[in-house]
Amino acid sequence: MGAGWLAEPARVRDNSRSTDHALRTAARDAPTGADPHAGPTALPHVAVRETSHAGLAIHERVHGPNGEIIDFEYRYVNEAGARLLGRAVVDIIGQRVTAVEPRAVAQDKLATYIRVAETGTPEEHDVHSELDGHATAVHLSVARVGTAVAVSFSDMTWRRRAELATAADNAKSERAAGQAARILERMSDAHVTLDREFCILSLNDAAARLFGQPLAQLVGQRFFDTALILLDSDAGRLVQEGVVNGVEGRCAQHVAGTGEGQHLEFEAYPTDDGGVSIFCRDVTARVTADAFQREFTARLGSWNQQLQANVAEREQLLAAAEHARAEAEEANRAKTEFLAVMSHELRTPLSAIGGYAELLALGVRGPVTDTQREDLGRIQRSQRHLLGLINAVLDHARLSTAAMKYEVADVSVRDAAITATALLGPHQLHTKRLSLDVLDCGEVVVARADPEKLQQILVNLLTNAVKFTNPGGAITLRCAIEGNQVAIVVSDTGIGIPEQHLRRIFEPFVQVDSGPVRAQDGVGLGLAISRDLARGMGGDVTAHSEVGVGSTFTLRLPQAQAATGTA
Ligand code: ADP
Repeated sequence: MGAGWLAEPARVRDNSRSTDHALRTAARDAPTGADPHAGPTALPHVAVRETSHAGLAIHERVHGPNGEIIDFEYRYVNEAGARLLGRAVVDIIGQRVTAVEPRAVAQDKLATYIRVAETGTPEEHDVHSELDGHATAVHLSVARVGTAVAVSFSDMTWRRRAELATAADNAKSERAAGQAARILERMSDAHVTLDREFCILSLNDAAARLFGQPLAQLVGQRFFDTALILLDSDAGRLVQEGVVNGVEGRCAQHVAGTGEGQHLEFEAYPTDDGGVSIFCRDVTARVTADAFQREFTARLGSWNQQLQANVAEREQLLAAAEHARAEAEEANRAKTEFLAVMSHELRTPLSAIGGYAELLALGVRGPVTDTQREDLGRIQRSQRHLLGLINAVLDHARLSTAAMKYEVADVSVRDAAITATALLGPHQLHTKRLSLDVLDCGEVVVARADPEKLQQILVNLLTNAVKFTNPGGAITLRCAIEGNQVAIVVSDTGIGIPEQHLRRIFEPFVQVDSGPVRAQDGVGLGLAISRDLARGMGGDVTAHSEVGVGSTFTLRLPQAQAATGTA
């Protein structure tokens, strides 16, 4: 009779297996019948007592005077039970149920214990109790064991919490599973799950797009029937390895198609049911971009090399140019030095020739015939001409070495112009029947200049005008004030200068017609010297010309301070 309740497992919940086991053990070991005071040593295994969360107790009947059951006495209680009751085991053993717990609670339980003791039918109840000093719900399992009743009681609060926690965990895992499914559905990577027969169990929209068929149509199809192109490829072997050997892996695969085809990355993970879960990502854009970047970097490298070669070549050219410039400067310096020395050396004997010719002409050495006087005249003219040329070369040499000294003063342009025209000599003008007019050079036209240098420039310009103007022509020297500058404009109605020569006539030794049949004398230094002198005084000389019409040379110089504003 003692183990009868075991035959009714339906009343015992699965989730209280340890309690169930303890009760069965207690039932097996419990004293039956006559010895109601048998000690707890005969009761459940130590292991069960120590590990059970549930309280276990064996109660023996206490009879009233008429043999009716009036109470139960604790014969055994485990540590968990004592803890739940808020007392020590030793304080409970031997006590009556009504003495251990508050009366109301005890009465409630007592009714159950009596019923079970009398009927032998195990019962389970959730009852209110006071455990560990706190009002709580207690789950009670009661079974008859011999003359005693075995009770298992557990804190419902704890159990419910555990149940709620389990429910919450389940809900959480369901939510997580749902979320995972939704993510798989929506993600841009294709995802396909195959069973052990390579049949498609599930797939997402991206996978359907990759296969190019409606999703619903693909489910159930064999993977390699649909993706035949992958059968003999790395990706195909990856899928087969996953299913056949349960091996996970990944690989990159190029799939031929329209244009450049597609670059795909596959990952395969074996599933619990022997199938495989496949992820496939289209990395065509990235691969194309990588290839472009590699090509671009390679090209950049070659451009860079080319650029460096160009730079090196340019540096070589620059070095060569610099070297050539230094050499040219050195040659120019040597030439200038030579000119200066040579012209200086020539001037002394030339002066002597001039001096002795003059002595002879004056008859100091004796009477001179007319023919001799004519010859002496030619000697003197040639000597003056030669001296003029040599002076020009010397001036040029001085200007080149910046050795020219300027003594700047306020100079009346009209006076300078009159002196210059006088120096020309009326002979030349008369011979060629040229007119020479000085216009607009009033007293107010005063320049800041070295008077001698200004004279030299004006004589140069006027001499050229006379030289290059055909008989009957006209020469004009006109003054003008331009801002804070004085402009002296020498114009002629001469032969003019061709455009291509105009830019070069200010360079030393440049002449428009420098051939052996050249009509005019000179060495081509007059304009170079004139412009250098003008610039040396803060001014300049410029030219305009038209072949057959005439030329205009303009000398500009700073206007004297005193004259400024009064012009
Ligand atoms: P030179 O007169 O000694 O030859 P210049 O330097 O004074 O040297 O003049 C350089 C050249 O410019 C002349 O040889 C001539 O060809 C040209 N030139 C100068 N002035 C005139 C002018 N007024 N008309 C035409 N050609 C001129």
